[in-house]
Amino acid sequence: MEAVTQNYVLEGERLQIYTYPEPVLTKVAQEVTVFDEELKLLCKNMLYTMYQAPGIGLAAPQIGLSKRVFVIDTDYTREYKDEESDEVVFDNLNPRVFINPVIKEKVGETTYQEGCLSLPGIFEDVKRFEEIVVSYKNTDGEDCEISANELLSICIQHENDHLDGIVFIDRLSSLKRNFFKKKLLKAKR
Ligand SMILES: [Zn+2]
Repeated sequence: MEAVTQNYVLEGERLQIYTYPEPVLTKVAQEVTVFDEELKLLCKNMLYTMYQAPGIGLAAPQIGLSKRVFVIDTDYTREYKDEESDEVVFDNLNPRVFINPVIKEKVGETTYQEGCLSLPGIFEDVKRFEEIVVSYKNTDGEDCEISANELLSICIQHENDHLDGIVFIDRLSSLKRNFFKKKLLKAKR
């Protein structure tokens, strides 16, 4: 099997991931208005950081930037090359970038155990819409639209929440939410 280390998203700068309760995670992010090389580099570095973490989604507020951008890959696999080495081999990469996303249609209901790179150690069932239609811009500023279901739909809703200053524990009962917030505050100290 050929390693995909040549892929552009597997090279880049590893950005710092902010954890709750950093204020940037609870702020509503700003629309992107400039589609330039800097934006492309940001998205590349966000994808690189997501793959290295590893995670299946990363929103700009999670790297301390209050902008309406997130990256997702719900398709890739990541394995150690062999038992002795700690070299990781990625396969089936499907990097996606969403800029200024708007969830236009929401249908059905589904529950999935979510986690978040900004809330380490917490995994809880969250209720989401089953199918969604999202409009967004790509890094060239072109209008795009996608229908999503299953994990991609859940991931888009989770990342889109980050752009509105919402973390997934905000979607739990107040009892659970307060429990986890206290736990995270304690871990931070
Ligand atoms: Zn998250």
